[in-house]
Amino acid sequence: MSLVSKSLFELSELFRDGKASSREITDAFITEIENRDKEINSFVTQTFDLAREMADSSDARRANDSLLSPLDGMPMTLKDVVCTKEVRTTASSNILKDFVSPYDATVWKKLKDAGVVLLGKTNTDEFTMGASTQTSAFGVTKNPHDITRVAGGSSGGSAAAVAAHFCAGSIGTDTGGSLRQPAHFCGVTGLKVSYGRVSRWGTIPMASSLDTVGPIAQTAQDCAMILQAIAGQDSKDSTTPPHSVPDYVNEIKQNLSGMKIGLPKEYFENDINKDVLEIIQSSKAILEDLGVTLVDVSLPHIKYAIPAYYIIVPSEISSNMSRYDGIRFGSGKKGEALDDIYFETRNKGFDDEVKRRIMVGIYCLSTGHVDGYYLQAQKVRTLIKQDFDKVFTQVDALLSPVSPTPAFRIGEVLDPIQMYLEDMFTSSANLAGICGISVPVGKTEEAGLPIGAQILGPAFKEERVLRIAHQIQKSIRESR
Ligand code: GLN
Repeated sequence: MSLVSKSLFELSELFRDGKASSREITDAFITEIENRDKEINSFVTQTFDLAREMADSSDARRANDSLLSPLDGMPMTLKDVVCTKEVRTTASSNILKDFVSPYDATVWKKLKDAGVVLLGKTNTDEFTMGASTQTSAFGVTKNPHDITRVAGGSSGGSAAAVAAHFCAGSIGTDTGGSLRQPAHFCGVTGLKVSYGRVSRWGTIPMASSLDTVGPIAQTAQDCAMILQAIAGQDSKDSTTPPHSVPDYVNEIKQNLSGMKIGLPKEYFENDINKDVLEIIQSSKAILEDLGVTLVDVSLPHIKYAIPAYYIIVPSEISSNMSRYDGIRFGSGKKGEALDDIYFETRNKGFDDEVKRRIMVGIYCLSTGHVDGYYLQAQKVRTLIKQDFDKVFTQVDALLSPVSPTPAFRIGEVLDPIQMYLEDMFTSSANLAGICGISVPVGKTEEAGLPIGAQILGPAFKEERVLRIAHQIQKSIRESR
């Protein structure tokens, strides 16, 4: 098996045991990227010189027996909303195409301190608004399993880069499904952490009360390793509580016997693609074999998740996007009237989806409408959260599809409303602040497209969803 097809966990063992240097591993990924990323388009910016330098430092640390962490020497990528001092951070938007941050996001600082090697910044929908990377100013990312299809989004660049073996793992963000849905489309594992588990400081925001930063990698075990390095309180992000950080890598080794997993009936009443449904059914059998009891449960308010999400998210977007005004951020035409600078910068800098959400958000927050839209949506959000609180007194976790279909063709879904329906199974977790994971469980019969299952768990129980996903993956591997 070539170096690039190994998991992060395996690579880290090889490196620690002196069987492969970080430089060798890094060069192997770089060769892969040089050969195939022209086609896939998963990167916005590549940082190969920096990567080689960082890899050499890791090798020197290994020679001195002074490795910084299990991630030391491991080549990774960052979604291009994670601010880095070394290279530009664009949010895949024209408005930030030349922006170089004066500081590192906490998540990148932590990974750097752990010895991670940076291969580059990955593509996303513009400001993470979307589910296909089709709204990126840098072009769509193609699905490595079928390049006529999307990789999903918004963390589509990260998912494709992991699936194409361009890196050992990546960091993405998930506000309504952006780690889980592309992981499902690309056959990799994406973890949406609980709100506040990982610092968002220095990560370009979309909707601040739902945004989360998390890992995407080949396996749940790899995600556990990355989460270990990035989780925890950060004095720069007041939404990170002082909860202790469990030993994820060890906790996931426990078996599942005696666990109860709920099947939310509302999630299975939707119009779901036949292959997706069949494969989710087969993962029920895997869970039962692992000693899990499956229980039918109900989340009565879940049908309001999409309408509530698409009021709250644009409202927060309209506020967050106001800083891109050509003065603080975004290059305006200098020396003209203020209004002209704003207009020119924002009109040219933002594409349609961003403008659409700003307009919807301003409307939902405006006097005369705020009660009927924004405040009403917040009440619905509370009801959805209460549904989850209640169901988690009955079961340990939930199983559902990630999205209603496998990866769709590029250009097939362009209508915004149809695109928003991609989030029907994922956005509720962000509204409630709970954690969830997308784990690959099969492939469609004819086209061989990957299908993921979603496991949702209570807030700050990442070790539980990782453990379930890890045991499913182990069982699938062993049955081959
Ligand atoms: N598809 C969702 C949206 O467009 C989720 C995006 C995300 O999680 N960043 O809002």
